[in-house]
Amino acid sequence: MRTRPTLSWTPPGEPLPRTTSLHEVVRLVGAGGVVVLSGAGLSTESGIPDYRGATGSLRRHTPMTYQEFVGAEHARRRYWARSHLGWRTIARAHPNDGHRAVTALRNAGLVDGVITQNVDGLHRAAGTPDAIELHGSLDRVVCLSCRETSPREELDRRLHAANPGFTATATRVNPDGDADLADADVRGFRVVPCRSCAGVLKPDVVFFGENVEPSRVDRCYRLVDAARAMLVLGSSLTVMSGLRFVRRAAEAGKPVAIVNQGPTRGDKYAEHRVDLPLGRALTDLAARLAA
Ligand code: NAD
Repeated sequence: MRTRPTLSWTPPGEPLPRTTSLHEVVRLVGAGGVVVLSGAGLSTESGIPDYRGATGSLRRHTPMTYQEFVGAEHARRRYWARSHLGWRTIARAHPNDGHRAVTALRNAGLVDGVITQNVDGLHRAAGTPDAIELHGSLDRVVCLSCRETSPREELDRRLHAANPGFTATATRVNPDGDADLADADVRGFRVVPCRSCAGVLKPDVVFFGENVEPSRVDRCYRLVDAARAMLVLGSSLTVMSGLRFVRRAAEAGKPVAIVNQGPTRGDKYAEHRVDLPLGRALTDLAARLAA
């Protein structure tokens, strides 16, 4: 289960040495058979904030849990009003050099698979259509009753039509695709139901407090088990949902490299830890290996 994140976690023991040299990562990726595990840090250079980076949103915002969302109509109204604004930023975001470099390494046959914790669809947009979106994607909506999925764009149009006087503007967008919004703006917002069965609609993403579909987890484990090495990109690995794959790789004796600005909960499992901005680091990596 994805548990609600906190800022209280600190890495155990002494911090392991970090480097700004890509030398070992070039060797590791150059040997091929790599599975990539990416997180929110890969998308910050596309303008989507992370949770726990230098300007991470958890410092001022607590994401909604599944239990809150299904448990109260006012919680859903608040979510969809805020999300109606925030979605525009996510929908406008473009892949950055980091996403493009991952695609180049995949096309060069060095990366065998990509698992992403991100819900922004940017690996797909960058040309890696088979990236496994562990926590789903904000560009789809699912009905909690009939389980029908539909495009988020369609819901966006329906919400516009149902809320013609909704003129609020987002002050700040959060990683979940919602935005800071005054209570007064939330109160008058009208939520729309599933077109097919009038059930409750939810973004097709895994909320905190919700389980990832077991079949999706199994696909990720299969990728990890088939890989020779793992490359973690832009994740604090605070969430067990992602950390479990790093553990699995390390327990099988596979080398793990982490490229991330700042410490991660997976540091003790990693042979190589590089502290560099991902756009620059991955462009450099792809230029050396996939040009
Ligand atoms: P996180 O916020 O916990 O960690 C991100 C890490 O990336 C931080 O350590 C940060 O210092 C680092 N970072 C930020 N920008 C970087 C850059 N340019 N170069 C290198 N490092 C950089 O994110 P997480 O570990 O992915 O966990 C967050 C969870 O929340 C995920 O499971 C995901 O579902 C969700 N989320 C998704 C998005 C998205 O889709 N873009 C954004 C935020 C959160």
